[in-house]
Amino acid sequence: MRKHIVAGNWKMNTTLPEGVALAKEVNAALAAKDANCDVIICVPFTHLATIAGVIDQNKLGLGAENCADHKSGAYTGEVSAPMVASTGATYVILGHSERRQYYGETSETLREKVALALENGLTPIFCIGEVLAEREAGQHFEVVKKQIEEGLFNLSAEDFGKIILAYEPVWAIGTGKTATDDQAEEIHAYIRSVIADKYGKEVAEETSILYGGSCKPSNAKALFAKPNVDGGLIGGASLKCADFMGIVEAWD
Ligand code: PEP
Repeated sequence: MRKHIVAGNWKMNTTLPEGVALAKEVNAALAAKDANCDVIICVPFTHLATIAGVIDQNKLGLGAENCADHKSGAYTGEVSAPMVASTGATYVILGHSERRQYYGETSETLREKVALALENGLTPIFCIGEVLAEREAGQHFEVVKKQIEEGLFNLSAEDFGKIILAYEPVWAIGTGKTATDDQAEEIHAYIRSVIADKYGKEVAEETSILYGGSCKPSNAKALFAKPNVDGGLIGGASLKCADFMGIVEAWD
């Protein structure tokens, strides 16, 4: 059975004290219940080590929002996968549309990042998704296929099995516009078929595919009820414990 997952992406939000307080709040909420899914928070680099020290990672996974495409060296300002792993974090978001759009991330650099993440025991949460013009032109299937092929299909089946995928239509991120549950199911099922064609049905069936894009407590249940939607990658709604827990509880 593939995992059901709710992962928060805090983006560039919260100071360190604010972030620690939020992590403690989510940790306490999870300690008080048996969540029906894996729960992860992906937080700014500056917060990782401190948050690792205040949460129970058996109940709340911890991840970074990016890592460098080099192991070490003269790359001022970058943070490597070994550095992330050394904080105690075990996940890393890679290929978020904001990284692709604002920081020029390409499939080539993402392949390096995925390889380094895996080498250092980090689970990549690999993001794919089309922009509005591509959706309107009916190109969304080919766009996500290309992103998966170019970013991940160099991996062995064993390594591919370690990846969490997040389908995030760019037009739905932070816009309040959510893909309908039928739109999400249609493309998640397609993504699974692309994986099955490359790695076989068994690997495809085991791959968790999260939906991201204005997911909130009010729409999470309908989205997660779809057979190919295995959870959510949550931006804005992960910054308030009650909203984030409302989404976690959609799996109850
Ligand atoms: C995201 O950035 O991964 C995301 C899904 O953001 P939001 O939930 O705010 O749309």
